Amino acid sequence: MALVELGMPGITGGRRAVPDGAMPDVVLPADRPRTPGLVDRFGRVATDLRVSLTDRCNLRCTYCMPAEGLPTLPRDAVMSRAEIARLVGVATRDLGVRQVRFTGGEPLLRGDLVEIVRDCAALPHRPELSLTTNAVGLESRAGALRDAGLDRLNISLDTLDPDTFATLARRPFLERTLAGIDAAAQVFDVVKVNAVLVRGVNLDHAADLLAWCLERGFELRFIEQMPLDADHTWDRAAMVTAAEVRALLGERFTLVGDDEPRDGAPAERFVVLDRSTGRRLGRVGIIASVTEPFCGDCRRTRLTAEGGVRDCLFAHTETDLLGPLRAGASDETLADLWRTAMWGKKAGHGMADTGFTQPERTMSAIGG
Ligand code: SAM
Ligand code: SF4
Repeated sequence: MALVELGMPGITGGRRAVPDGAMPDVVLPADRPRTPGLVDRFGRVATDLRVSLTDRCNLRCTYCMPAEGLPTLPRDAVMSRAEIARLVGVATRDLGVRQVRFTGGEPLLRGDLVEIVRDCAALPHRPELSLTTNAVGLESRAGALRDAGLDRLNISLDTLDPDTFATLARRPFLERTLAGIDAAAQVFDVVKVNAVLVRGVNLDHAADLLAWCLERGFELRFIEQMPLDADHTWDRAAMVTAAEVRALLGERFTLVGDDEPRDGAPAERFVVLDRSTGRRLGRVGIIASVTEPFCGDCRRTRLTAEGGVRDCLFAHTETDLLGPLRAGASDETLADLWRTAMWGKKAGHGMADTGFTQPERTMSAIGG
């Protein structure tokens, strides 16, 4: 039986904490308190889990994937439906996780997505369940996802212009995404839209996109572009900042800071008013992960499609749970591996530090 010292997440330096077929005896780091939840050294508690369901995608967004795509994981390296339910069950029952968001890659590429949602909705400590998707193909599955227990949806849409969509996503699928959004709006009470703005491509589309979302009752959230692209073209000096987005939107709308507490949510929210009449039009969010980081209030833990725990998008190491699970580890062991992984979470993502290096994995491979 393999003995694994668990001082820090990914202490083996590789993707597997234990060799295949071996089951670890967990040796806890001496300074980790025996608390039930996912606590780190800085007192943060992770209650929000992102689960990547696949590393594959049908789009090739320039800020995320390379034009030629990435080598995909062998099918048996990816968590099965039952393995996902088992790990989400451990997270919700033993580790205090209350919200679970399925992401990827593109989660709709999983033929068993509806069943995965249904399994997680049937867990005894049912979490709030949400999905982040590009909505291509959602049209035929929105109702089934809602019936299976999905509570909320975030749909990624960077522009309403077909040519710009094709440039950014490298696929001419705007109509399919819009059809997915329409279908989602018919069955879900809350639809949020995520947009990444890229200078010289869709920055000028930001206000139109907001107007379109407000008319339909969707909450739009602009996300600052992070250095998680495969092409490594991210440039801090060139990226569109949250301050710039606020100023740009302010030319067309009045934005008033929302009083509601953020409560760990990454987006700074604003109430949007009509500039001439003062009429309330809705809300918008801006996620300033780069220029106004919120790491001090981070409540997130992540599972990659291969069942590795990442304590941060920008982590360079992972702690494998799938290997131990397949080797017969108990729920208790899996929970302790997970706790120990999170105990080593750094204070911040360090993007502003001189020594910052972009993680090897792209956003699509981590699970955004
Ligand atoms: N394929 C799905 C989608 O696009 O919604 C889910 C996965 S995607 C990685 C999740 C979110 O990450 C999307 O809203 C996408 O816009 C965002 N994203 C991808 N790369 C990003 C980057 N480099 N910086 C900021 N956000 C990014
Ligand atoms: Fe695919 Fe989502 Fe990445 Fe775009 S952002 S390439 S849709 S995973």
